[in-house]
Amino acid sequence: MELKDYIRDIPNFPKEGIIFKDITPLLKDKEAFRYTIEEMSKYIKDDIRYIIGPESRGFIFGPAVAFNVNKGFIPIRKKGKLPYKTISKTYSLEYGEATLEMHIDAIEKGDKVVIIDDVLATGGTMKAIIEMIESQGAIVDKVIVLIELLFLNPRELLKGYDIVSLIQY
Ligand code: AMP
Repeated sequence: MELKDYIRDIPNFPKEGIIFKDITPLLKDKEAFRYTIEEMSKYIKDDIRYIIGPESRGFIFGPAVAFNVNKGFIPIRKKGKLPYKTISKTYSLEYGEATLEMHIDAIEKGDKVVIIDDVLATGGTMKAIIEMIESQGAIVDKVIVLIELLFLNPRELLKGYDIVSLIQY
């Protein structure tokens, strides 16, 4: 399965100079989508307690993998969306800035988790999520993404973490 065949480049979206990786062709192809979820699932060990995914596109892959490997899913949401008490983190994106939140009781000390998202660009989003998780005493076993943008060098920001990407550009 050549997953790159299902990723569409959209130049200058959402801003001039950004080449947006559109994953919707992959999602609508049942074989490509299934293959993606099965590949991501291979990296989830038995001792993982939760799959964690950020809004918005982490909500596409994270829960599908969690279901497939019989784990729970924890959402990371944009500011103001979660109803209970939260911890939050503000960080910079490839384009702009954002604040993410997680419920304060979502994970417990010692929980081993895997974070799943669509695109690893600068790594800023992932770093913010990792900091939130670690502030709760939980352990990030692995980061899994569909696409890694090597030219933005996200691994530099995420040194020491185990990162799996299915496609690299
Ligand atoms: P970053 O924090 O820079 O690693 O950005 C990661 C988040 O922004 C991911 O959750 C992506 O959904 C989105 N993103 C950043 N750059 C792109 C891109 N070139 N194409 C598609 N999505 C992107």
